Amino acid sequence: MRIVLLGAPGSGKGTQSQRLVQRLGIPQISTGDLLRAAVAKGTELGRQAKQAMEGGRLVDDALVLGMIRERLGEPDTRGGFILDGFPRNLAQAHALDRLLETVRQPLQAVVQLEVDYGELVRRISGRRTCADCGRVFNLFSAKPAALQGELCPKTGAPHRLTQRPDDNEATVAERLRVYDEKTRPLIDFYRARGLLQVIDAEGEVDTVTRRLTAALGAATPRRTTGRTRAATPARSAARKRPARRRAAARTASARSPRATRRTASAKSPSRRKTPAKTSKAAGRRRRAPRGKRR
Ligand code: AMP
Repeated sequence: MRIVLLGAPGSGKGTQSQRLVQRLGIPQISTGDLLRAAVAKGTELGRQAKQAMEGGRLVDDALVLGMIRERLGEPDTRGGFILDGFPRNLAQAHALDRLLETVRQPLQAVVQLEVDYGELVRRISGRRTCADCGRVFNLFSAKPAALQGELCPKTGAPHRLTQRPDDNEATVAERLRVYDEKTRPLIDFYRARGLLQVIDAEGEVDTVTRRLTAALGAATPRRTTGRTRAATPARSAARKRPARRRAAARTASARSPRATRRTASAKSPSRRKTPAKTSKAAGRRRRAPRGKRR
């Protein structure tokens, strides 16, 4: 499955992505992790990204897109992926659309993790990451036993917990501001494409995982057609109508747009599931006895 997890810093995208990796067997692609690794290695990319990251600002789109293009070209992403922290603005979302369109592998689900502002700040201040295995813990939510008794799967020694340098108070305020300004608009962007699911991401981690899994289960499966235009019932119907009826519909549309909208939803045999947008007429048609269907 090709998934994007959206949400403010501290909303749990990283933690939930790690759980999805276990469940779905597809890789997590976190642009934040990739950038931090580049900074730690001292590569040219890391050098260019460092200042923006320390200030809580977004790293230049061209750098991030180059990195994503390369990562999505790796073979382990063929069966799907979980994008965590990407896209972060509309330009990145459009670029991702184009990139996935060229390989005919459109996104299948976008889940927005909703968390209250005060809770975000609390979570970020308690966040710690194991320097060796990368697992994310929270001092306020993880049971102490899990932190003390558990050994790092990479070293066999206790986890070495570190705090991210950008998890300090001043930078967090800027990151949340940037999120509201640049990333929040993606909610409407993906809603318009019929891909968005919103879940309450407060409460126990296991409970959020259950909500997330349910949301993914409810996501409309998309075939790998490469089509990324928003799928409305009328558009899906139009795609399935024979050419002659499409031409007739266009003529009717020129005369009366309303009449055409009715024709498209009531008469076309669209079987695509878009529950929020499915017309009453289409609903009645599905319930009609087989012999009476048009
Ligand atoms: P994260 O670990 O996702 O919170 O990201 C940490 C920092 O990396 C962000 O505050 C940005 O400076 C940078 N970053 C991560 N992902 C992106 C992205 N998609 N676009 C631009 N900057 C990013």
